Amino acid sequence: MHKKQFNPDLNLKYSAYTQTMWNRRYKESIFKNTENIKKDPKKKDRYKNQECKICYYVIGRLGGAAITSTECTMCGTEMSFCNTCTDKYCIDCAKGFKLCRHCGGDIDDVNRRNREDNCETLL
Ligand SMILES: [Zn+2]
Ligand SMILES: [Zn+2]
Repeated sequence: MHKKQFNPDLNLKYSAYTQTMWNRRYKESIFKNTENIKKDPKKKDRYKNQECKICYYVIGRLGGAAITSTECTMCGTEMSFCNTCTDKYCIDCAKGFKLCRHCGGDIDDVNRRNREDNCETLL
């Protein structure tokens, strides 16, 4: 019969402690994110940035520092960024279609019908 052995190299007290700390932080950030998504406290700034709630509050702008340039997926305008976290659309296209410029989802998590019809004149 196989008996389970405790690994003496495992600093259980330490590893459980640090993981619990991480989990607590993670939990706090989930609560904070949930609250931000519900209340949208920085709506004006979020709209100014043309980002959806998820990109603005949850994901944030993490990316390696490097000048990166990419083209807007919609109109081909070249955009440059000071990190590797690039946007999908230029601000004009994103605004015109009520999309998050970063991920390309809706700015207010709404799957609008006739998105293209309504915005045809904008391009
Ligand atoms: Zn564009
Ligand atoms: Zn987004």
